Amino acid sequence: MKVIKIGGGCLKGINTIRQISHLMPIYGKGNAIVVSALYGVTDILIGGIKKALEDEDKILPHLETILKLHLSVASMLMDSEECLQGYKADLAETLKLLERYYFGLNFTGELTPKMKDAISCIGERFSAQLLAWTLKSYGQSCAYLLPQHLKLYTDGKFGDATVDLEATAEAVKETLIPYMAEHEIVIIPGFYGISQSGNITTFGRGGSDYSAAAIAAAINAEVLEIWKDVDGFMTSDPKLVPEAAFIDRLSYEECAELSYFGATILHPRTVEPVRQRNIEIVIKNTINPGRQGSVISDTSEQAAKVIKSITYTEDISTLKVHASGVGYRPGILSIVAGAITDAGLNIKSVVATQTCITFLLSKQDLEPAYNALMQIKPVPFRMLEKEDQLVLLAIVGEGISSSKGVAARCFSAIADVDINVELISFGPSRAALYFLLHKDELHQGIHALHATFFDTKMTIPAA
Ligand code: ASP
Ligand code: MG
Repeated sequence: MKVIKIGGGCLKGINTIRQISHLMPIYGKGNAIVVSALYGVTDILIGGIKKALEDEDKILPHLETILKLHLSVASMLMDSEECLQGYKADLAETLKLLERYYFGLNFTGELTPKMKDAISCIGERFSAQLLAWTLKSYGQSCAYLLPQHLKLYTDGKFGDATVDLEATAEAVKETLIPYMAEHEIVIIPGFYGISQSGNITTFGRGGSDYSAAAIAAAINAEVLEIWKDVDGFMTSDPKLVPEAAFIDRLSYEECAELSYFGATILHPRTVEPVRQRNIEIVIKNTINPGRQGSVISDTSEQAAKVIKSITYTEDISTLKVHASGVGYRPGILSIVAGAITDAGLNIKSVVATQTCITFLLSKQDLEPAYNALMQIKPVPFRMLEKEDQLVLLAIVGEGISSSKGVAARCFSAIADVDINVELISFGPSRAALYFLLHKDELHQGIHALHATFFDTKMTIPAA
């Protein structure tokens, strides 16, 4: 049994959706298929939250837009009138639920994390229903199963839930496994699970990859296939580095580090569940389905030059907490870190010295984190310093921390092009070294590194 995940990028426009629905019976029989919402739909659902809060009269036209979008695709996909009617009935029922949520929001005037999750994951239901009815219209034995019926249990944390793998693995024996015996293809909406008390909880944006990984682990699938419109991981972002090449094998660790630091191929937490069961992740390019994409497993084939990929993220900022004696003042780290997390913000990383604690944060969290620290009484620091004109560059490869000279080569390449490094973190991960640069130096920096580690010439496209 495989678990196949189909991303929103593959569900974009009628031709691609039709192509996917033709591939599903060929490659998908006997398997569970986890789907994202149609391309752009999650954003539309979240956009509706603002409209619903603003004005009751905006709700019905917004629902009409969502209805039309799905119906126009459905009517082009399905020849069978009976299946089209079946889909329309499902769609109407799911839209009714969404309508209740939007009106509830308008009535209370308050958006809770619970409501945001319940609304934002509805697009996955629409697409699962759409594909299931489409395959039925092709005469396939196909059905969909919602995560609440599958009992994909989570820890209940809204917006960033973690799957309870043990409880889910136990539940699927009674839910998904018998269902798969009855239907050749089972389609499951991705992006969310349910808490033990039945609350819908999402896994964060892009979380359908993680749903699929959790289901693969729960049923002990032979492989997790991620269907995308690319072959997989590259030695760098080809938009920035035209010489970037495809990577055929990565370890779980490399994949996780690359996903955390900017490569948008997989949700950063996808490897967590499958790694526990040693299930391989294979990326499949639906434009070229016969070809093998990147394979992610625990075999840590070290690249000749150790480094497999150079990645970056622009979504980075630093908040420096200057305080003397950080190293011998018990509790200071937990006081400041606690204030940031209590404000519901995520700390990407922390680097501390004797006089300064530097938090790496998403850009949007910088100001709220600064404000949270300013509230602490008595004030445990001398000064705070914010910086958001940065980018984070990471070089990733298994063995990086145990191979001599990699860091030296990295920083001499950076120094050779006269770039100043603002902060370095090296050591905590056995597969990544990352550092911060001023944002204007991204192109120059990434090309210098790619040229050094992959022997490519330095071609810097006009920024
Ligand atoms: N549809 C959700 C999103 O856009 C989840 C996913 O596609 O993985 O974030
Ligand atoms: Mg995705």
